[in-house]
Amino acid sequence: MRGGGYKATPQRAAVLRALSEEQHQSLEEIRARCPEVGLVTVYRTLDLLGELGIVRRLDFGDGARYELAQDHHHHMICESCGDVSEFEECPLDPQLLPIQSSEFEVRSHSLEVYGRCAGCR
Ligand SMILES: [Zn+2]
Ligand SMILES: [Zn+2]
Ligand SMILES: [Zn+2]
Repeated sequence: MRGGGYKATPQRAAVLRALSEEQHQSLEEIRARCPEVGLVTVYRTLDLLGELGIVRRLDFGDGARYELAQDHHHHMICESCGDVSEFEECPLDPQLLPIQSSEFEVRSHSLEVYGRCAGCR
C-alpha cells in the first residue's frame, strides 16, 4: 500500500476482497459482496483506492465499473450482451501519439474495443 493517509480498516479490507473476486464490477455488485459496509463508505473507499492507484474506475457506457489496477490490459465489450473480456497485448505505442512531451506528460491510457462476442454474432 502506497500513500500517506492509507489505513487498512476492516471496511477497506472488505471492499478490496470484494474487488478481488471479480473484475469490472459495478458499485452495486461490489456492495452486494460486502453488505456489512455502507454504500457511502464503499463509494468513498473506491474513490480513495482510485487515488492511490490501487483501483481503476472504468466506464463502458453503462455506468462506473471498478477493477484492481494490478496489470496493464485493455477491454473488449460486447454491445449486445455487455460481456467484458480483457486482452493484455497493448497495441498503443506512446511514441506514435501526436503529443509533444513538452506540452503534455502522458501518465496512462485506456483502450476499449466495442463489438459483438462470439455468442452474440
Ligand atoms: Zn455478447
Ligand atoms: Zn479489466
Ligand atoms: Zn495499453
